Amino acid sequence: MEEYDLVIIGGGPAGLTAGIYAGRQGMNAVILERMTGAGSGYMVPLMENYPGFEVTSGKELLEKMRKQVEKHIPIRNMEEVKEIRENSPGDISLTTSQGEYRAKSVIISTGSHHRRLNVPGEYEFLGRGVSYCATCDGPLFKEKSVVVVGGGNAAVQEAIYLNDLDCDVTIIHRRDELRAEKYLQNKLKGHEIPVIWDSVVEGINGEVVVNSVSILNRKTQEKKDLPTDGVFIAVGEEPLNKVAQSAGVELDKEGYIVTDKHQRTNLPGIYAAGDITGGIKQWVVACSEGAVAALIAFVEVMEESEIK
Ligand code: NAP
Repeated sequence: MEEYDLVIIGGGPAGLTAGIYAGRQGMNAVILERMTGAGSGYMVPLMENYPGFEVTSGKELLEKMRKQVEKHIPIRNMEEVKEIRENSPGDISLTTSQGEYRAKSVIISTGSHHRRLNVPGEYEFLGRGVSYCATCDGPLFKEKSVVVVGGGNAAVQEAIYLNDLDCDVTIIHRRDELRAEKYLQNKLKGHEIPVIWDSVVEGINGEVVVNSVSILNRKTQEKKDLPTDGVFIAVGEEPLNKVAQSAGVELDKEGYIVTDKHQRTNLPGIYAAGDITGGIKQWVVACSEGAVAALIAFVEVMEESEIK
């Protein structure tokens, strides 16, 4: 069994920043990442609000951050934490897909995943026209027609990104106004991207690959099929909270982890940072929560060692 001062669960912006801060404090720490760091942060095609970078992308920033982390502590990819158990304050057991760990402290930065539409065809055509990631799959649809479903920041950013790739893009949104920030709404006006308002996708159709979506206008009750080659779904996110649940960490009614302003959860030695804590889901917030969690974990692990 490996023993650590700190185990960080999740290698997105929050977990990586926690890793940089923990490593620089000299903590014996490790990041366990269930994939290869290609979580929802990786999928942001274009970022214009990360301070110091006028324009960047999730992929570029994550790659830079990973390099920075690896100067200090290891990142273990493809190792999924299945369960955590607090034996006593400062003594936490973790079971992963690869083995067992013991840690004095844990930061949960497992993030969130894409909400599903839950309509017929969505699962069936996943990877054959249905996608949750324009950055990953957009180039496959160059010069083809695609719809983007949703009206938030992600939907508008993805629509603009796909339009820049020469896709023929249409947004489908369930209301008559977008939720996306004003800057992105103004940017959208500079592109020829029609929006189908007040409408929901009721089904995704095709044979081998997608060839249309069935749409219902919620105001007029009119139904129609819109031919399309691709369906990019960007209807929000849901917390990845299984690990937190396994430990008995307190969650709010939407399933996000409740923390104090020092990123402490209800369990001593277990902290949370990033999108898994809900609230403002921005990179800069995730990074700052990761830094706070690591610095507080450092102080509290040191205090605990001195008492012992
Ligand atoms: P979001 O802000 O929660 O927006 C989700 C959109 O999907 C909303 O327009 C919502 O409609 C719609 N929607 C939800 N469920 C739906 C359903 N079942 N059918 C049809 N439409 C549905 O989610 P997001 O755009 O993925 O962003 C997630 C978080 O990341 C947000 O906090 C966002 O601010 C942040 N983010 C920030 C940036 C940035 O800073 N530039 C970029 C990307 C994401 P309603 O509007 O009617 O609710």
